[in-house]
Amino acid sequence: MRSDAFVFFGASGDLAYKQVFPALQALSRRGQLDMPVIGVGRSGWNVDQFRARARDSVEKHGGLDPEPFAKLSARLLYVDGDYRDDATFAQLRRTLQSAARPLHYLAIPPSMFTPVVQGLAKSGCAKDARVIVEKPFGRDLASAQALNRTLHEFFPESAIFRIDHYLGKEPVENLLYFRFANAFLEPIWNRNYVASVQITMAENFGIEGRGRFYEEVGAIRDVVQNHMLQVIALLAMDAPIGRGADAVRDEKLRIFSAMRPLVPAEIVRGQFKGYRDEKGVAPDSQVETFAAVRLHIETWRWAGVPFYIRAGKRLPITATEVVVELKPPPQTVFDDSQPCPSNYFRFRISPDVLISVGTRIKRPGEGMVGEAAELIAHQHSGEEMTPYTRLLGDAIRGDGSLFTRDDCVEAAWRVIDPILENIAPVFEYEPDTWGPREAELIVKGEGCWRDPIHSQQPGSRL
Ligand code: NDP
Repeated sequence: MRSDAFVFFGASGDLAYKQVFPALQALSRRGQLDMPVIGVGRSGWNVDQFRARARDSVEKHGGLDPEPFAKLSARLLYVDGDYRDDATFAQLRRTLQSAARPLHYLAIPPSMFTPVVQGLAKSGCAKDARVIVEKPFGRDLASAQALNRTLHEFFPESAIFRIDHYLGKEPVENLLYFRFANAFLEPIWNRNYVASVQITMAENFGIEGRGRFYEEVGAIRDVVQNHMLQVIALLAMDAPIGRGADAVRDEKLRIFSAMRPLVPAEIVRGQFKGYRDEKGVAPDSQVETFAAVRLHIETWRWAGVPFYIRAGKRLPITATEVVVELKPPPQTVFDDSQPCPSNYFRFRISPDVLISVGTRIKRPGEGMVGEAAELIAHQHSGEEMTPYTRLLGDAIRGDGSLFTRDDCVEAAWRVIDPILENIAPVFEYEPDTWGPREAELIVKGEGCWRDPIHSQQPGSRL
């Protein structure tokens, strides 16, 4: 059943400004927002100021679309108050009027999750409601379990929507589609043919003034525990059995559960030179802005296949790519062997999107000498919907497929938990490089890192 009111906490915050208002305008354009939209914050705004904030937000992020925005604006309501104050929730209940199935979006700091869900429950706003929770879902296994317990006190799991916006990205969904909509992949998608799987999530930018935030997080918590492990689960899982929101999540859970918990020898942490000079960063900070990890999935399909993850800030470019390398042919028939396997699948997730197959073809001429060539299997630019538009629309409809389930979150933390808290040393690296040299140790003896390249030309090399 569709929700009949959209309530968002954190209405004056950064996420609301950059993502939520533009997504709401897009939902309005698609005719999917036929309900009151209530912002809750403590800015002392009246509804006109709230509408002005919404206008400013869409103007700065994607552009104002007059008709859908006018419709959205007419639906906006605002409740002012502190989240620790019962009166805020009493006012929200009155503002909801006859709405019986509200969707509450918690775009707020994690410290506010508990007061807000308690306030919703006490005021009757949680009855038959859904709740969207923003990452981080805890800082480690214990806090993730505590958060889940708190949420479950007031909401059944089926009413909880944990956003990992990566799952709403078109190319990430395409990993699942490409794997299971094509018959040719399955026979080779296993330890007999796959040499290794690697993901690089490179960001050319740094922490952009968010030093205080980043000091609490670091690369492992910010992107490895959630986005990167989710991508690996999509690459490694078996085909879902049946349909419905839980079919994919059940298979992902099996993969998270089969991941061997990491040990310090399987991680290299880095910090870009200059990070400690950023505002809000401790002068002796040990927080990593780069992480390289070797993971193992202990299943019949993947035993012995290394899964490498590399994520970092201030790297040479901004791009995210997955490379699935195949084992070399069993014998050398031609005398032009290559240092790295030349058969691979490459899934470029951002900034542009493509799926390609790496091959060798014979160079024209007398000798049996070849060269690398990529067959571009799929390429398109741009995303039809932003992840937030997609995910908020799904939550309104009650479709939890692209949201993270409690057991998956906890299983992913179980993998990461042993390497948190500065357990491995942090190595400095120069900005605009591919991280500390020590990252090579992660792939040593098994392969090499495949650096994504800037922009994609059809047929270009890896
Ligand atoms: P902000 O700090 O910018 O916004 C938090 C909002 O919560 C503000 O509107 C703030 O109001 C409000 N708030 C906090 N405490 C109270 C209170 N006691 N009573 C009333 N209002 C309160 O955070 P972000 O928007 O950046 O992040 C929100 C959530 O989204 C976090 O969980 C974050 O991890 C997550 N997230 C954010 C992303 C981003 O790009 N910003 C990306 C992915 C996830 P006030 O302004 O008055 O303090």
